[in-house]
Amino acid sequence: MNGVISSWDLSVGVDGPGTRFVLFTAGCPLRCQYCQNPETWRMRDGYQVTTDEIMDEIGKYRRFISVASGGVTISGGEPLLQPRFTADLLHRCHDSGLHTALDTSGLLGARATDAMLADTDLMLLDIKSFDPATYRRLTGGPVEPTLRFAQRLADLDRPTWVRFVLVPGLTDAPANVDALARFVAGLGNVERVDVLPFHRMATGKYERLGLRFPLADVPPPDPALLSRVHAQFHAHGVTSV
Ligand code: SF4
Repeated sequence: MNGVISSWDLSVGVDGPGTRFVLFTAGCPLRCQYCQNPETWRMRDGYQVTTDEIMDEIGKYRRFISVASGGVTISGGEPLLQPRFTADLLHRCHDSGLHTALDTSGLLGARATDAMLADTDLMLLDIKSFDPATYRRLTGGPVEPTLRFAQRLADLDRPTWVRFVLVPGLTDAPANVDALARFVAGLGNVERVDVLPFHRMATGKYERLGLRFPLADVPPPDPALLSRVHAQFHAHGVTSV
């Protein structure tokens, strides 16, 4: 099966449990203002690979990953832009006993088959804002498909971590956080919410690509704001980290 990727890397911490082989697919329909991977936006900037080649690459790290209780995470870009390639990789990894995770915005969740979801041990679902107007301002797209996908994952009882990037002045409105916390609490399959503090580390990448980083003047959230947001999730009985 052919696909187009941007890169792959080994990571610890934010892309699922343990040490992970993380594959960044190329192409994304959104344009999040805080995107850390603008080099993945256009499929034509990626390169062609086959799932055989990726499985060979994963095989080199398999022992290391397994000892570290990790696995494989398909990220992007947006992996569901290439649903057959992504499904094939998830299936082959899952079949071989590797823990699998899929990192997605959920915008194209309708392209994920139930079989693909069954091959995904952990869904990393980015709900970038609950408020539709904020979501559109932040990403350029609609939030509704993501919320529908979240509900489908709940109906299928698929283990899910929700990821929420906290951006001062953009996603931090108390009503927005509260509505997201209430929604997540009602799903029943979300093990935790990762509150990811906005940062500006990708500024250099944007400059190298000749792009303007839209949030260059926005500071990271301060400890008081982070505490308030965690408290809002906890008030709804949601575990946040
Ligand atoms: S969905 Fe992810 S890869 Fe796409 S623009 Fe947003 S942050 Fe970047």
